[in-house]
Amino acid sequence: MIVHPKIKNNICLNAHPKGLELLVKKEIEYVQKQGKIAGPKNVLVIGASTGYGLASRIVAAFGSDANTIGVASGRPPTAVRTGNVGYYTMRAFDNAAREKGLIAESLTGDAFSHEIKDRVVSILKKNNMVLDCVVYSLAASSRRDPDTGELFRGSIKPIGRSFTSKSLDAGKEVIKEVHFEPATKEDIAGAVKVMGGEDWELWMNRLSDEKLLTPNVLTVAYSYIGPPVTAAVYREGTLGMAKKHLEATGDKLHEKLSAKGGRAFVAVNKALVTRSSAVIPVVPLYISALFKVMKEKNIHEGCIEQMFRLFHEKLYKGEAVPVDELRRIRMDDWELREDVQKEIDKIWNIIDETNYRTIADFRGYEDDFLQFHGFGFSGIDYSEDVDIT
Ligand code: NAD
Repeated sequence: MIVHPKIKNNICLNAHPKGLELLVKKEIEYVQKQGKIAGPKNVLVIGASTGYGLASRIVAAFGSDANTIGVASGRPPTAVRTGNVGYYTMRAFDNAAREKGLIAESLTGDAFSHEIKDRVVSILKKNNMVLDCVVYSLAASSRRDPDTGELFRGSIKPIGRSFTSKSLDAGKEVIKEVHFEPATKEDIAGAVKVMGGEDWELWMNRLSDEKLLTPNVLTVAYSYIGPPVTAAVYREGTLGMAKKHLEATGDKLHEKLSAKGGRAFVAVNKALVTRSSAVIPVVPLYISALFKVMKEKNIHEGCIEQMFRLFHEKLYKGEAVPVDELRRIRMDDWELREDVQKEIDKIWNIIDETNYRTIADFRGYEDDFLQFHGFGFSGIDYSEDVDIT
């Protein structure tokens, strides 16, 4: 099949197998060039197929020779449609890790369900793996409660006020005003249920009950704070409430695990183009401005650079993990630097349809978005037939 990107409402509906193989290969090569980390040996990554979760898994396997189990949503190809991104990235990862002699098992399914937790437990037992690291990197829009069957939807809304902002419609290449009505109580509860810490805690409790965690296990989940321009719709909005719940869950888990020498952290990562962030209004425009400023200052990082720095400099440096006053690891330290945010403010005040391609790094945004789906790599001839199975 000849596969070109099919994009609708900032969502790419298909994926290119060869491009995704190359994406995984490039991330692996980046890690191999950096050298070794005295890191974990048996790792579970929940949300392992793209973005920060995929990068974490690659850092664990290729930076620290870890056996890894990955969980993500996956959709295999059909006769007329490619598989989803995770179908190809996880296969490429498993092949590369197994070639190195590591255990690599990727499971697709609903991470919120009891069924997938059962499958992970049985695969860990089959492989005699006791986990010394669990990475929780899920970004979901809805969640079915595994006990009641009730479906909760996450929403992206401000709390206590309405909000209007500039936003980029990357597909149509227009900058328009977006307006958000304040969240209802149900919206807030839904967001917390989907993106808060409840499921992370369920995973850790289940693994602990099954005696599948080492006493010194380390678990980490990912959060975001961001700048004032996205605050109303992110940090002070429904998603921010969910992230605060996730951060509080980190403290709760830490208290429990530290009795035996274990640790739980939340790392606040940098804003990056991933499948999830592309659908958050305002964020793609902010990311375009952020990339421009960080690249000019030579401090830009992608998912793999962020995750390598997290594991190498923060989690496994052999020293106390550096945290802020709320016990969070700040990987957004460079993004939120005063000089960076000042430059972004200048761009934000004047950005419009006539200048967004020059005063912001929209090209960088587009390139990353396409590459996360396997498109836009210069080494691949996209007019060629590709095997999508
Ligand atoms: P992503 O969309 O690239 O990855 C999300 C992962 O979750 C994928 O592997 C996907 O398959 C999996 N997933 C989603 N729903 C699932 C389900 N029901 N069952 C199984 N797997 C499921 O997202 P990302 O941007 O890498 O986000 C990962 C985490 O990092 C999130 O908590 C996000 O809030 C956080 N974060 C992201 C950014 C950013 O700018 N992208 C910044 C800071 C923090």
